[in-house]
Amino acid sequence: MDAEGKAARVAIVGAGPAGLMAAERLSAQGVAVDIYEAMPSPGRKFLLAGRGGLNLTHTEAHDAFVRRYGERAGEVGAWLAAFDAEAVRAWAAGLGVETFVGSSGRVFPTGMKAAPLLRAWLARLAAHGASLHVRHRWQGWSEDGALRFSAPAGERQVVADAVVLALGGASWPRMGTDGRWAEWLRERGIAVAPWQAANAGFQVGWSEHFIERHAGEPLKDVAMAVPGTGDGAGDDSAALVWRRGECMATRYGLEGGLIYALGAALRQHLAQAEQPQLWLDLLPQRDAAWVEAEVRRPRGARSWSSHLQSRLGLKGVKMALLRECLPAEVFTDPRRLAAAIKCLPVRLSGMRPVAEAISSAGGVEFAEVDRHGQLLRLPGVFCAGEMLDWEAPTGGYLLTACLAGGAVAAEGVSAWLRNRQSAGVPVPHA
Ligand SMILES: Cc1cc2nc3c(=O)[nH]c(=O)nc-3n(C[C@H](O)[C@H](O)[C@H](O)COP(=O)(O)OP(=O)(O)OC[C@H]3O[C@@H](n4cnc5c(N)ncnc54)[C@H](O)[C@@H]3O)c2cc1C
Repeated sequence: MDAEGKAARVAIVGAGPAGLMAAERLSAQGVAVDIYEAMPSPGRKFLLAGRGGLNLTHTEAHDAFVRRYGERAGEVGAWLAAFDAEAVRAWAAGLGVETFVGSSGRVFPTGMKAAPLLRAWLARLAAHGASLHVRHRWQGWSEDGALRFSAPAGERQVVADAVVLALGGASWPRMGTDGRWAEWLRERGIAVAPWQAANAGFQVGWSEHFIERHAGEPLKDVAMAVPGTGDGAGDDSAALVWRRGECMATRYGLEGGLIYALGAALRQHLAQAEQPQLWLDLLPQRDAAWVEAEVRRPRGARSWSSHLQSRLGLKGVKMALLRECLPAEVFTDPRRLAAAIKCLPVRLSGMRPVAEAISSAGGVEFAEVDRHGQLLRLPGVFCAGEMLDWEAPTGGYLLTACLAGGAVAAEGVSAWLRNRQSAGVPVPHA
């Protein structure tokens, strides 16, 4: 309630997981909430995530979980202290959706779908009295500070006691997330880091022969490293930081979990290196000495392919990668061949565009916000979710941080409204 006894009104712009979580927290406290969404229906990207089973969160230990946010582990970790992986599971259960832990520690709803969760969530919000205004595209502020929306009946201006912007990043623009809002914030002097693809494939100039035979094949149990990421400056394979997992050979290059896990480092390497490449260990379960001993065994009249298949179990796409990435003369030198099996250079020619990526890096810089996501230059306006400048690999880390960021922004809004009331500041209304 304000000084005149009116309920505070909060505008939430963007009906993705971050905005809906902020709306849930605030409406549960009796705050009047209006959610504005550009698209004809809410949560489109959340539903899209449901097509892959909706990986809500991850069960790994809290410290390891927080490290997934890389350079932004400090800021995102603070959100997770308020709303962590356990809280995500409890929240889903509260909406009638039980979760299970997959073999890799990833957490999914038992039905592997987003729609039942979103339906229950929207019903809860409606029961709390939150109003949803779809087809309302936010267009910045009017001269007197009102939020400007283009709406079906023309331009609409809205004044609220506090605003949560939860506009998402710039991947999959056809889901409503075109990142164009960055313009309105930059006009207000707010630094927004340029959009970059995150969790996207990397391009490799495969030969037609490779594409025809191997595009679409999984590369199971390999390890990958980004040049220059180990201790010291060199690329001594023992000093590199190797990550084990799997990915997929595609028509344009490589894609999948292992690539996403190294994505931020690979993207940086791509921007800086003259001849960007990644290192692939095709037999991470075997040490270099064993591999060399097996390669050196007499091969008689057998071809290299059948020798490597019978001695080391290398075949299919793994064998093809050796042919694709190594000059022919390496096959006459067992020492070099064995070394390449453990540390194969795969040349990169680019990254897939942000529009195709699962998520984006870039967005409102953390120097612009306080710990609740409140813009320092625009008090009373909070940012939450992927629109802030953090990134994480796939594994449920994206949704968890968006939900947590929404909950933390709601906390900030509550504190902001309380402070205004205690100062007796009248609350303007739309
Ligand atoms: C194919 C795919 C699969 C994914 N799978 C997973 C997964 O399994 N696990 C996981 O953790 N993450 C996954 N993600 C990522 C996850 O969906 C996003 O990180 C998350 O939805 C971001 O939440 P958000 O609330 O910040 O923004 P969004 O969900 O992007 O929502 C932002 C909303 O703001 C609206 N909007 C934008 N501009 C305006 C404007 N000017 N005016 C009004 N409204 C506006 C948009 O229409 C949108 O509805 C996946 C993403 C994709 C593309």
